[in-house]
Amino acid sequence: MASVKEIQTTCCYCGSGCQLLFTVDQGANKILDVHPVKGRTNDDKACLKGWYGWDYLNDPQIITKRIREPMIRKNGRASPLTAVSWDEAIKFVADNLKKIKEKWGPDSIMGAGSARGPGNEPNYLMQKFIRACIGTNNIDHCARICHAASVVGSMQTIGEGAMSLSIPEIEDCEVIFNIGYNAAASHPIVARRIVRAKEKGAYIICADPRITETARIADLHLQIKGGSNIALTNAMANVIVTEGLQDQAFIKAHTKDFDAFWEIVKVYTPEHSAKICGVSPDAIRLAARKYAGSKHSVILWGMGVTQFQQGVEVVKSNCSLAMLTGNFGHYACGTGPVRGQNNVQGTCDMGVLPNVYPGYQSVTDPKIKEKFEKAWGAKLSDKVGLTLTRVPERVVHEKDPAKQIHAYYIFGEDPGQSDPDLEELRETLDKIDFVVCQDIFWNKTTQHADAILPATAWGEHDGVYTSSDRGFQRIRKVLEPTGNVKDDWEIICLVSTAMGYPMKYKNVQEIWDEMRNLSPKFKGATYEKLERQGSVQWPCWDEKPEDTGTMFLHEGGKFATPDGIGIFKTSHYQPPAETENSDFPLTLCTVREVGHYSVRTMTGNCRALRNLEDEPGWVEISPEDAETLKIASGELVRISSKRGTCITRANVTERVKKGAVYMTYQWWIGACNELTISRLDPSSSTPEYKYCACKVEKLRDQKAAWDDVNRQYEDIRAKMRIEKERALA
Ligand code: SF4
Repeated sequence: MASVKEIQTTCCYCGSGCQLLFTVDQGANKILDVHPVKGRTNDDKACLKGWYGWDYLNDPQIITKRIREPMIRKNGRASPLTAVSWDEAIKFVADNLKKIKEKWGPDSIMGAGSARGPGNEPNYLMQKFIRACIGTNNIDHCARICHAASVVGSMQTIGEGAMSLSIPEIEDCEVIFNIGYNAAASHPIVARRIVRAKEKGAYIICADPRITETARIADLHLQIKGGSNIALTNAMANVIVTEGLQDQAFIKAHTKDFDAFWEIVKVYTPEHSAKICGVSPDAIRLAARKYAGSKHSVILWGMGVTQFQQGVEVVKSNCSLAMLTGNFGHYACGTGPVRGQNNVQGTCDMGVLPNVYPGYQSVTDPKIKEKFEKAWGAKLSDKVGLTLTRVPERVVHEKDPAKQIHAYYIFGEDPGQSDPDLEELRETLDKIDFVVCQDIFWNKTTQHADAILPATAWGEHDGVYTSSDRGFQRIRKVLEPTGNVKDDWEIICLVSTAMGYPMKYKNVQEIWDEMRNLSPKFKGATYEKLERQGSVQWPCWDEKPEDTGTMFLHEGGKFATPDGIGIFKTSHYQPPAETENSDFPLTLCTVREVGHYSVRTMTGNCRALRNLEDEPGWVEISPEDAETLKIASGELVRISSKRGTCITRANVTERVKKGAVYMTYQWWIGACNELTISRLDPSSSTPEYKYCACKVEKLRDQKAAWDDVNRQYEDIRAKMRIEKERALA
């Protein structure tokens, strides 16, 4: 028993940042037990992903296999992927990237970072590699497809894109306005804080077209029509001003542009917005009065706000509502764009975005650029780079080869499953001259790769994640990796060095220290402080122990804008880009479910989680629509949009309104992204995943349909290198 050790780390699944304690037999390299322990955000609780979501480390080979060897296609895309040495793989990647850079220039190369397992340090290096070695700002990650709108909208109004308050503060809020956010599915530990707030007497408002778990515990459920968020928030502002409920002193002292805001908002009387939203004017009035009635009101939102083409505008409107009522700058109030994936906040913090360096420092600011050029010893581009959602435009739709993307280095992401309009995405990946995937599992994207670089997984390396409420927390190696894999940061260093821009570090702490010294608001978050405190919330400006970080932002009404003043902004309502019509009479919205994580390569390889749900997923449909279409719950159906089609199971439920259907992201066969639209928010380039037109058809021969599903599943798993499922619970 001498080799048994306890190791604490941060959960790898959502932005709640729960702390887990692993008991490991180090001699046998085996996990014996996992349970949650007290952390800043989770107390000592975890959801089922925390309890059971580590099983993929055992590589049970249920839906896909771990990648254990570097692989390349030696003779072009049509040739097979062949296992090679690391030296050969690195040379192959470096030579191809160099050739493309020389022929087409640095802006012909795109990089994608990872908000999942790798952590902050490899992401810092990834953006440094793309900027300093390749010479472009074409670097982005999956925040683009979830909360980029929150960053853009919040920056433009209050100057900082993250949650203004901390997760623990939520339970001391007196009014919690959830809009487009179902914490029970996306952040169960945040949901627990909401339940505790309710137990303490808080008033819960939920604006959501579905009867979600949050709607069920709400005091007021505004079952609005999908895509009508801004009509609701504008109307709430209208009521607050019309009834004199605004905080005039706060507005006068800390904000500007109220008059321009009112010019828009005055149109949105409750009666006007009620017609757009499909709820009663009195319900809107009640929501506004309750929200404005407390100095401890918070607005929490998720992708039900951001994944619309008006996502940025709704975020601005949310921030304006909080300014209007003086709900910023003190304990238990503010705005909460609650980030989905475990390290999507951190990957933004590290500058894996086309417009900012680490610490949200603009690439177009000459002084900032000069600072990074000096530190990195490289000439940097001052041109804002490409967002990953615009890659298809620059490959499939761009006819001039000089303006096209010719290489895509994808690090720990799976756009072949997660991006909208998958048919177009597959065409994009096939047309790009050179695709590199650095990952842990075979997935939908690796099938298009010219080179595959196998990395260590969460649990096999050290580093730092950032929780959704700006909290840096350590992740630690639990198991020794097996196979011919390397840490992500080492792989990036090897490729960069082989391309002529040497990068050498001894460990992740050295990378972290370099990043801190270039990022003023993270400077004080030393590894020593992280060990001592467990969690350090940024901004943390000073290394001295007295600077323990920042629980809530904008203290005393001083916003993070250049002049410290908050800016009122909102917009007029616009309907979604593609609405229901005679060919496609229903609307499709994509949602999350608690047991599975985004693209499912990790949760699908955990026995307990896989057994909760499996292919081909499901589509939620109202009893009225199911009756019209003669569909029974559990039957297989075909669902189609203008862009594609897939088979899934019907889940007939009163949770959804007539005319709207809902699917989750993660299924390979019931893949909602075969159907979704790539229409983007113009400011954040986030796709409108939450609304497109579709139709659902009953499949008459259910047996033949199930045979087809089973055949498709086996075909896909064969592509994921599963010969025979190794382990079932
Ligand atoms: Fe992990 Fe999030 Fe669940 Fe916590 S709430 S255990 S961080 S998935």
